[in-house]
Amino acid sequence: PSSTEAATEESAPPPESETPPPPISLPDKVPYVLVGGGTASFAAAKAIRERDPAAKVLIVTQENYSPYSRPPLSKHLWLSGDHAAAQQLKFIAPWSGGKLVDLFYNADFCKVGELMDREEGGIAVLTGTKVVGMDTKSGSISLAGGHVISYDKCLLATGGRPRTLPLFSGEKVEKHVSVYREIPDFLTLDQRLENTKRVLVVGGGFLGTELAVGMATRYREGGLQVYQLFPESGNLGLVLPPALASWTLDKVKKEGVEVFPNVTPVSVEPESGGVKVTTSSGIELTVDHVVVAVGLWPNTDLASSGQLEVDRHLGGFRVNAELQACSNVWAAGDAACFYDPHLGRRRVEHHDHAQVSGRLAGSNMAGDQQKFEHQSMFWSDVGPDVGFEATGVVDSSLPTCGVYPKTSTELLQEGGAGVDDYSKGVVFYLSREERRVVGVLTWNLFGKMDIARKVIAEGKKEGEIGRLMSQFGLEPP
Ligand code: FAD
Ligand code: NAD
Ligand code: NAD
Repeated sequence: PSSTEAATEESAPPPESETPPPPISLPDKVPYVLVGGGTASFAAAKAIRERDPAAKVLIVTQENYSPYSRPPLSKHLWLSGDHAAAQQLKFIAPWSGGKLVDLFYNADFCKVGELMDREEGGIAVLTGTKVVGMDTKSGSISLAGGHVISYDKCLLATGGRPRTLPLFSGEKVEKHVSVYREIPDFLTLDQRLENTKRVLVVGGGFLGTELAVGMATRYREGGLQVYQLFPESGNLGLVLPPALASWTLDKVKKEGVEVFPNVTPVSVEPESGGVKVTTSSGIELTVDHVVVAVGLWPNTDLASSGQLEVDRHLGGFRVNAELQACSNVWAAGDAACFYDPHLGRRRVEHHDHAQVSGRLAGSNMAGDQQKFEHQSMFWSDVGPDVGFEATGVVDSSLPTCGVYPKTSTELLQEGGAGVDDYSKGVVFYLSREERRVVGVLTWNLFGKMDIARKVIAEGKKEGEIGRLMSQFGLEPP
């Protein structure tokens, strides 16, 4: 092994030490190299070791933390009520039996410098290190700082980085603006809010909506005013049909957020120690801080040195049915563009997909030859009254058919007239021409995803929806 000055190692959660860790020796060759230290990589590492128990696996991540799960960053850390614990990244979760848990995935990581000498193999995590290039012919990656590591098998699980808006750039504005995806983003924003009176969230998707509700809940007592603006007519409007998005908007307002739908920001200028944001409808909001939550750019920079194909429409490394991008290279999670046998080419930005695709890629790297056929699910919670799970293509621009207990089948796309209770229901998303079910969202109904997957796999049509309702625990219309 040779050594590098740049790399540091950390295999445990914070606190980060004030004295820099000693330089560590880096291997020149590792059988399994996983680029990215998120959920997909971690799932792959475990799957590799299950199939190949003596496997030597190196996870390389540019973050300064060992792998962790992101969902609590926009939910439990804000909602669980214990401020001091949250600053230690700890919270009480519904699944933790009343105990404090943290975000980090538990594994017996070994030290990077010892990995190649261990007969029993192991998983080592090289933190704070960016992979800046790859050579898929010789089978190697290069690290920032210049060190090159050869691999037998490599996984690209590079996830994505938050999209930004050019409007929010410039020295005087930038110091009042942040994006949100990683642990330091939570720690910094949470500390900043202790001395903040007004914060604006730009974006009405998953992140913007969960975070707006989370911040309003955590700082309700402190008098923080949370504003949110987005171009859709209601919260989560890219996913929920208009009537449901509008119902959700009312719930978000009840959680204390002042919401401005149907607008985009058109100008931003420094004002009163913060910034003034003017919207397309002429509203002026002067706030201390802005969180921009306008989607994700998949991290595919390595495609050019690795000569890998990126999907022109969906983004992400294009992979085959076994999640392979080229010989000895696989991709999984947010950064993979895969073929779904029922729904065509897709890229999915959710936790369960990262787990399931990571696991399958890992298993295939260790010699398995499975096709990726699992229809992953996702969930979101917005305050105490709104929780949903979904699978397949859930895109509100498709025709939708929503069924609610007290109503007959309604085409919500056409207004949902007559529906007065959106507290529970199922939304079916239909392909435009065949009117085949391509996605299902269960609204305040849980544990129905296996049924939803079956409906999609069997290619059920719009006319058959009524007969399916009893399977979802709702009366047929
Ligand atoms: P990531 O988690 O993005 O991990 C990729 C890693 O690779 C990162 O550590 C990155 O720094 C690293 N990396 C990238 N490029 C390089 C490089 N060149 N060299 C070294 N390292 C590199 N999904 C749900 O289904 N439900 C939820 O409730 C939910 N909540 C969320 C809440 C928040 C705040 C966020 C941000 C996301 C949430 N998601 C949720 C989405 C889910 O977290 C992602 O889909 C998931 O993290 C994707 O995992 P991944 O491993 O593909 O990518
Ligand atoms: P959560 O409590 O918000 O949700 C847990 C699950 O139950 C979700 O699938 C949610 O849709 C569903 N749910 C929500 N309200 C419900 C209700 N009233 N009745 C029945 N089901 C309801 O927790 P979460 O963070 O969304 O966790 C999702 C799953 O991931 C959990 O099953 C948990 O075991 C697992 N998990 C998550 C994390 C994480 O980082 N979020 C970490 C470890 C395990
Ligand atoms: P998103 O794609 O869900 O939503 C983007 C939002 O930004 C939309 O409301 C969109 O209209 C808006 N937007 C785009 N351009 C805009 C502009 N110029 N002005 C104003 N608004 C604009 O993405 P997100 O909410 O930023 O989430 C980031 C990532 O985190 C995604 O991958 C998401 O899947 C993931 N995430 C998932 C969950 C979950 O599954 N529960 C929770 C949090 C985050």
